[in-house]
Amino acid sequence: MHCPFCGTYETKVTDSRLVAEGDQVRRRRQCLTCGERFTTYETAELVMPRVIKADGSRETFDAQKLRAGMLRALEKRPVSAESIEAAIERIRQHLRAKGEREVNARQIGEAVMQQLKRLDQVAYIRFASVYRRFQDLDEFRAEIDRLAQEPKFSPTDESDKR
Ligand SMILES: [Zn+2]
Repeated sequence: MHCPFCGTYETKVTDSRLVAEGDQVRRRRQCLTCGERFTTYETAELVMPRVIKADGSRETFDAQKLRAGMLRALEKRPVSAESIEAAIERIRQHLRAKGEREVNARQIGEAVMQQLKRLDQVAYIRFASVYRRFQDLDEFRAEIDRLAQEPKFSPTDESDKR
């Protein structure tokens, strides 16, 4: 690792520790020539599959875009930033676990819906109504009914049963 101050090749690691719940290694380094200290972060680069869009074109997986879509659905909902990030991470893991080089945009949409369903019912309905383009009110109502039938959604006993 080059020293960012003087460009020397020789730097030594003075401290190394796991951060971000073990997903990152933080290293303190010191230049053997000029003595400056600096920090590096090392993260595994995990390759995400490419996304096949509805029109057949391909694009790079974009976590930023995914986050934006979820945040729109979660606007003003009582869901912490931390839970949202955890949900995004679960989606990424889910997509990587498929082991495919390409995934359909549709599969991503379904994964988002699955996560939103766990996070917040209102956000889920918002997202689903845009994503599935409910044709009419009946279709919308049917989805709400389906939701209501899932036991984990009864609002009263959600927290104390875990
Ligand atoms: Zn240096």
